[in-house]
Amino acid sequence: MSPRHLFVAFVVLVAAAPALLPEFTITLLGYIGLYALVALGLVLLTGIGGLTSFGQAAFVGLGAYTTAVLTTATTLPPWLAWIGSSTWFTLVAGLLLTLAFALAIGALTLRLSGHYLPLSTIAWGISLYFVFGNLEPLGGFTGISGVPPISIFGHEITSSREMFYLIWLFLLAAIVTTRNLLDSREGRAIRALRGGRVMAEAMGVNTARSRLAIFVLAALQACVSGWLYAHMQRFLNPTPFSINMGIEYLFMAVVGGAGEVWGALLGAAVITVSKQWLQDTLPQLIGQAGNFEAVVFGIAMVIVLQRARDGLWPLLARWVPLKAGARTIDAGAAPLRRRARPVAGERLLEVEGATMRFGGLVAVDGMALEVGAGEIVALIGPNGAGKSTTFNVVSGVLEPSAGSIRFRGTPIAGRSSREIAALGMSRTFQHVKLLPRMSVLDNVAIGAHARDNPGLLRGMLAGAWRLERRDEARLLAEAARQIERVGLGGHLHDAAGALPLGKQRLLEVARALAADPCLLLLDEPAAGLRLLEKRALADLLRKLEAEGIAILLVEHDMDFVMGLVDRVYVMDFGQKICEGAPEAVQRDARVLEAYLGVP
Ligand code: ADP
Ligand code: MG
Repeated sequence: MSPRHLFVAFVVLVAAAPALLPEFTITLLGYIGLYALVALGLVLLTGIGGLTSFGQAAFVGLGAYTTAVLTTATTLPPWLAWIGSSTWFTLVAGLLLTLAFALAIGALTLRLSGHYLPLSTIAWGISLYFVFGNLEPLGGFTGISGVPPISIFGHEITSSREMFYLIWLFLLAAIVTTRNLLDSREGRAIRALRGGRVMAEAMGVNTARSRLAIFVLAALQACVSGWLYAHMQRFLNPTPFSINMGIEYLFMAVVGGAGEVWGALLGAAVITVSKQWLQDTLPQLIGQAGNFEAVVFGIAMVIVLQRARDGLWPLLARWVPLKAGARTIDAGAAPLRRRARPVAGERLLEVEGATMRFGGLVAVDGMALEVGAGEIVALIGPNGAGKSTTFNVVSGVLEPSAGSIRFRGTPIAGRSSREIAALGMSRTFQHVKLLPRMSVLDNVAIGAHARDNPGLLRGMLAGAWRLERRDEARLLAEAARQIERVGLGGHLHDAAGALPLGKQRLLEVARALAADPCLLLLDEPAAGLRLLEKRALADLLRKLEAEGIAILLVEHDMDFVMGLVDRVYVMDFGQKICEGAPEAVQRDARVLEAYLGVP
């Protein structure tokens, strides 16, 4: 069965549910849909983007209160009263308000890292809850009653069956668009946020903006859930928007499986149903009333988190005979635009006095080097000499403590790696940085992220509605071409993490090439390769050189370096101790001393 068939079968089941199930179950399913909508935002935000938020309930409240206030208040200025005349206008108003709030909160807090970010979500989650409870016009802790039902072309949605359809329509639309988004250019960037930010930035992804985008998107989904909730309940008080509920939403996403959109639905269903069941059965078992379900629930939660770290969805998915269709490559797709080649003899990279201090340690000490167009240059030196740090300083991963670095005439010291990538420098990492669960194809396509990029908002909208399939086909075709070029053509659809280390390095070379660079920095590209693979890599590098691409590489294998490079720089203790043709450098006394430790 293909995922598409399964999805259609699921939609048919949803459509038939109100005819088959009792009223009580339909109401419960309605709630599950509402919760799943919020949990879906958390899948995107937490499971995929790596940003933990305890505060989503506050955004649900924002959507609910906006519509409740606008549709019930009697003393509003005329323009606000006009918005309150239709529940659809109030939905738009709620979304705009949530957008403004999420942008403001996101801009303030998303820069925080580690546990500070989740803590800040608790902080604003609690404050918004008290705003709902303490503002007189919002009805205080007693709440607002008399909220009208949603009306569609004059027809009021009052029955729980109709409400069920409306909720699940929104939910399914959100699931489909989120899935589409994750399959697009911006979605790949989002999937790289968790654990791959340094790499993503070096490939031209604006990770701060991607983080803000998913934060806003998750908030908007929560807001829609709140709007639906207000008109289903027809009554509102602050309780469902407290931090407790914020924590519960996070549980839903994590228990269901925060790595997959369907995990949101599964988590919402499992938690809602089991809570209901515990509430009904526990008092009978124990023979006295009390919140025992909270205790049992807490224990169950710990067990699930211990036994199924990725949530329940992956366990369930194992039983479903799904044949995931590998993505097809359209070799005929129009190639991506290429940047202007540097002219022969152009000085691409000029480094002078580059210094990098880590506290008291001077890892790079007044380093100088130059790379011209169409040259292959090696940077060698004993372990800890400062070669990788030099790469990090040159490529913008680290900001140098001092020194001047020019790339194609532009001073780049202190610029972000994204800006430097945009100028045409691309790199690989000594400790490979790839997204192990994503396919080789997707990993390499991240390299082409910045090419012919329509911008974040357009990219996300087009991605969500699958309007960028031609653009996506071009990206994937380019990625496939580069994968073929480095000799990984047979691994296109394999998970990147399943490749042996040597091939992961080649993947990084392909990813760097997908960025269409004029200067390539390769940090130990041949480490872990077999002899034949090394020869193939050397051939590839020569071919790139012939195309006018300059290469700066760190490599330990002297045989590999000697036949290949035009010039060699030798570093020791952060300083340049020698430079010149490979043969001359190999005989240099200072170099022998650095490597062998004897004068
Ligand atoms: P190489 O690549 O030549 O083997 P590195 O550039 O990785 O050497 O490291 C140079 C020195 O800088 C080493 O002593 C290393 O321990 C230190 N170093 C590298 N990165 C950091 C860092 N982020 N913080 C502190 N020290 C570092
Ligand atoms: Mg190194």
